[in-house]
Amino acid sequence: MANKHVVIVGAGPAGLSTAYELSRHRIESTVLESTTWIGGISRTAQYKGFRFDIGGHRFFSKSQEIEDFWTEILQDRMITRGRLSRIFYRNRFFDYPIRPFNALKNLGVGTACLCILSYLKAQAFPPKEVRSFEDWMVMSFGRTLYEIFFKTYTEKVWGIPCSELSADWAAQRIKGLSMASLIKSILFPGSKKKRGEVIKTLIDSFRYPACGPGEMWEAVADRVESRGGRIHLESPAMRLERNAQGLVCVWTEKAIAYRGTHFVSTMPMRELVAALDPPAPETVQKAAKQLGYRDFLTVALVIDQAELFPDNWIYIHDPSVKLGRIQNFKNWSPQMVPEDRYTCLGLEYFCFEGDGLWSASDEELIALGRQELAQLGLVDPAKVVDGTVVRQAKAYPVYDDHYRGNVQTIRNFLDKEVPNLQLVGRNGMHRYNNQDHAMMTGLLAARNIALDAHYDLWAVNSDAEYQEEIREGEDTSGRLVPERIKP
Ligand SMILES: Cc1cc2nc3c(=O)[nH]c(=O)nc-3n(C[C@H](O)[C@H](O)[C@H](O)COP(=O)(O)OP(=O)(O)OC[C@H]3O[C@@H](n4cnc5c(N)ncnc54)[C@H](O)[C@@H]3O)c2cc1C
Repeated sequence: MANKHVVIVGAGPAGLSTAYELSRHRIESTVLESTTWIGGISRTAQYKGFRFDIGGHRFFSKSQEIEDFWTEILQDRMITRGRLSRIFYRNRFFDYPIRPFNALKNLGVGTACLCILSYLKAQAFPPKEVRSFEDWMVMSFGRTLYEIFFKTYTEKVWGIPCSELSADWAAQRIKGLSMASLIKSILFPGSKKKRGEVIKTLIDSFRYPACGPGEMWEAVADRVESRGGRIHLESPAMRLERNAQGLVCVWTEKAIAYRGTHFVSTMPMRELVAALDPPAPETVQKAAKQLGYRDFLTVALVIDQAELFPDNWIYIHDPSVKLGRIQNFKNWSPQMVPEDRYTCLGLEYFCFEGDGLWSASDEELIALGRQELAQLGLVDPAKVVDGTVVRQAKAYPVYDDHYRGNVQTIRNFLDKEVPNLQLVGRNGMHRYNNQDHAMMTGLLAARNIALDAHYDLWAVNSDAEYQEEIREGEDTSGRLVPERIKP
């Protein structure tokens, strides 16, 4: 096909990686972005010279191609940082990943004995049926340890009681960690893991752009534009006009039509289906409407104190506060603060769009953050000198009982009726994955267009590796997340 022109919806990692790869193949593209910023969830927000992420974005990938991409773009602006992240519980810091000696020391002899007794009780009286996350964890570790290390944070993140989350998630996620292995590592602290056994959560360093993830995506956007690609901010795709062959053009809110030969979407699948014109069949619309999301907000507080704690981030397991995690952005990169005398903390609250937290005013949320930090004894409230709030809708695509079937229904329809549209990225594919996965799907989508290739984007796994063959029963759907118990 002569004169390919690609319209890409979304200027996050997936959309920009698509545009960048197309520019390398000298194919024209136009990126439409609804907001005023570049980088999507991987942007860096700024407030009076303080920079902060939506969450904290570590740059690591098992894919060498992705690692090389980051190096090519930012060169020595990619810094390597040591990782320190601990759990804060009952006014004490526990190492994370959990180290038995440290945990024992912090818990004290009394609580440690309680942990052992409650474990023995769970062994003597195992539940008749192990259905929930709570059943599984209590059975494996005893109630006391479960309540200290697993219950509160899990419930804060997912907004669902652990007694309603399915046990499968615990069995898959916590596999390899058991009371027996904890006791073994106390008795034989020198025993090492087998060679080559690498657990992702244990990695102790990561790369990071000196001015936050947004620096990466702004640099990619600049390269795209310098090679002739167009990026339009404040241009939400509202209507996707199609005919018998597929998509014809994307209409933005400003009633401008962007015509293309090929289309790539990173917008949430739910919204994509709703924007199709003529509309998709009723079954497809119903499937799209059922896709769910978990939302997220950051209260960024400026503290007039140069040093607070050495962690990059801290998990807050204390059930008396709503706060889930604290990022200390200066420990991600010193360039995240304008003056060394200040620290900027990102207080992370997990919520649902429209709930009490989400709808609270910025002033209320800043006051809540300040009060919770004081309650935890982590920061002197008098030193909190300023603050701001950033809300991120659809931060996490939710994996409920029906999401797989719903995604498949949408895919089947689009494959058949809209063949010149490719879905890429996180909400674009309803996959709970990192930047590297989003980028890889974007790169392969671009190659499908530029080289008339046939990469199956759904065969990119959560390690951003393209799998030529997916074995029967293999799950490529993304990172593990809990599901509600099936009735
Ligand atoms: C709390 C948190 C922590 C994270 N930590 C890490 C980490 O440590 N490391 C890591 O690699 N990843 C991390 N991630 C994941 C990472 O943020 C995502 O994988 C990545 O941003 C996905 O890129 P994307 O382009 O697919 O989607 P997005 O980043 O969501 O970008 C999509 C873009 O499309 C735009 N858009 C949506 N609808 C429309 C429309 N109708 N018209 C035009 N534009 C539209 C959006 O405004 C957005 O800019 C984290 C995510 C969260 C929520």
